[in-house]
Parts: sequence; C-alpha cells; structure tokens
Amino acid sequence: MKDLLHKKSLEKDDIIALLSANEEDSRKLFERSAEIKEKYVGNKVYFRGLIEFSNICGKNCYYCGIRAGNANVERYNLTDQEILDAARFAYENRYASVVLQSGELANETFISRIEYLLSEIKKLSNNELGITLSVGEQTEETYRRWFSAGAHRYLLRIESTNRSLFEGIHPQNENHSFDTRMKSLYSLKKTGYQVGTGVMIGLPFQTLEDLADDLLFIREFDTDMVGMGPYIEHPDTPLFEYNHLLLPQRERLQLAFKMIAVLRIMMKDINIAAATALQAIDPMGREKAIKLGANIIMPNITPGKYRNSYKLYENKPCTDENPDDCTNCLEARISMTGNTIGYNEWGDSKHFKLKKNKQKDDR
Ligand code: SAH
Ligand code: SF4
Repeated sequence: MKDLLHKKSLEKDDIIALLSANEEDSRKLFERSAEIKEKYVGNKVYFRGLIEFSNICGKNCYYCGIRAGNANVERYNLTDQEILDAARFAYENRYASVVLQSGELANETFISRIEYLLSEIKKLSNNELGITLSVGEQTEETYRRWFSAGAHRYLLRIESTNRSLFEGIHPQNENHSFDTRMKSLYSLKKTGYQVGTGVMIGLPFQTLEDLADDLLFIREFDTDMVGMGPYIEHPDTPLFEYNHLLLPQRERLQLAFKMIAVLRIMMKDINIAAATALQAIDPMGREKAIKLGANIIMPNITPGKYRNSYKLYENKPCTDENPDDCTNCLEARISMTGNTIGYNEWGDSKHFKLKKNKQKDDR
C-alpha cells in the first residue's frame, strides 16, 4: 500500500487496488491524499454559489429526478430578477463565483436569456464575480457566445466513460449520445473554458474497473475541475428498477471518498468539488471530502421556495433553507475541517493557470 501511495504515476491496476482498499488501507489512502492536498493546493476552500435557476429539462436521463418524463415534478423557472438577486447575494457575501445550473434546453430563447444574464451578473458585480455554467450539451457556437458574454468555467459530467454503461442509463436516441457528450467536452476546452467533468459513483452495473477508467479519462483529458459524487436513487426514475443491485449507501459514500482521494493523488493541483450528493448520504459528507482532498464547495443560494423542486435525487439536503442560513452554517463546518474559506478569491485551478502559462511560454 505504502509503495502504491508514493508511486509516480498510477496505472489502471493500481487504481483498482486503491479503490478496493479495506478500512485500514483506506485510512492510509486518505492520509496521503490529505497530505498532497495541503502541499499542492493548501487548506483553503473556495465557494461557488449555486443557483439552480430552473428544473425544466428537455432530456430524459434515466437516473435524474427532474427528467422531462417525470410528471410528479412541479416545474419552475426563476425570474431574471430572482437570478440576479441571488448573484448579488453571492457578490455581497464575498463568494467570488456563482454557478448557474438548470435542466437542459437548447432553443434560442434559452441561449439568449443566458447571454443576457451573464452580462448583467458581470455588470452588477463590477466585473468581479466569476461565472460557471452547467446547462448541458450545446453547440460550439453557443458555448462561444456564452464565453464571450462572461462565463469562464463550465461543468459537464461525462457521467460514465464506459460507453455501454452510459447508453444503459440514457434513452437510446440522438438526444442522449455518448459521442455528443464527449464532443461537447472537447468543444468547451477548445473555446477556452476551464472545464469541469466527473462521474456518478455506484451506478447499477458499474464496476471498479469502470471507475478506474473514469479516473484515467479525467487525467487524460487534462481536466481542470472535477465534481463527482455518489449516485443516489430516485423513485420516479427508470433506473430505480435496479435498486436491488446497488451497494448500500454507506459503501457508495466510502467509494466516492476513495475516488476523490485517488484523484487528488493523480492530479495534485486541480480543483475538486465536494459534491452535494455526498451530503445527501451523510450530513458531514462534504466536510469529510474536504478533509481528504476536495477544495471547492457549492453553497446552494437558490431562493428557498424553489429548492424542494430541484430534486435530482432523494434526500437532497438543505431544501428548506435560505441562502443566509447556508453561509453561517458552512463557515462553522469548514473551520472544523481545519480549512479556511478563500473569500473574494476566484480560486481558479492551479492546474489551469500553469497550463495557460506554459502555452504562453511555448509560443
Ligand atoms: N442538466 C445539466 C445540469 C443539471 S444535472 C446536466 O445534466 O449537465 C447535474 C448533474 O447531476 C448531472 O451531471 C448528474 O451527474 C447529477 N445527477 C443527476 N441525477 C443524479 C442522481 N440520481 N444521483 C446523483 N447525481 C445525479
Ligand atoms: Fe436533464 Fe441534466 Fe437531469 Fe439529464 S441530468 S434529465 S439533462 S437535468
């Protein structure tokens, strides 16, 4: 175990061995990943205020509670004013960045609305708030328009790099194609975004080998930011049928921690988010992830009355809180992990900055 934890570059078999670690070896793994985090990115956590601005979605992913086919969801769409107020809240509370996330739509009304919101958020924050988008697969042209309007980071999970698993958890049609997902990730990179990707951990039919391949893809894609968390079942989704195949939630959580730890060892200077889904299983899930390697947290700043309707999965935490409650509670929680909060700092991934500098040097 000790040799593995100090090996220069981890290969597939090494990763599988680490993901299979027993309790005692997991402890060693977490100690090592925490040490690497401290050395390369420091014990500092950056906030990204999450605005879940609409749960209206044109897609039908089999795992997701807000899929178009779920008639049990009350659909909402925040007004522009509500979105801008949430962004202003983030700015005034020194969050430095916001994430705009929603279901996936690709019509011109949606595209130009986001363009407008981006420029308004930049205006209200003196050009200071960093903006991440997480609104799914779009054309390269759309990604370019939004980049020009002020977005500079984009989150699009690959969900699983195993093509047949990806196809198994999505409807078989053009709207849910593995190749399009992959192509979108490369378009985002080409456009100039800091690109975040990730996977769900503990999906039915997923193996440790699949997860090792996912980590290898994340390294090969030279990812700047990663968000990955446990898959959590939702009763109103087609995937719920395979619930009996899932690992118990606690084991899925443990596996998610191992994935984060191994990734931190593999990619020392990237940004890794403590996904909200961790907290759905364990109230201290995100804090534990921060201790062992994550350095980004996404406090939910969606107005409280809408939170209950953005349920991608069961037990989504803090759905009855308001943004103010979140800030106070998070500050205490993060200081318990021995980390501080990088208020007013963008906290871009060091990996991205080094890459940019290197590109300049190479010219
Ligand atoms: N529509 C956008 C953004 C919202 S969904 C998109 O799909 O990219 C954001 C993420 O939520 C997805 O990438 C998926 O990984 C995660 N998610 C959806 N359903 C989930 C579930 N049941 N358990 C855990 N994560 C889930
Ligand atoms: Fe829509 Fe995203 Fe959910 Fe898929 S994962 S159904 S695209 S919100």
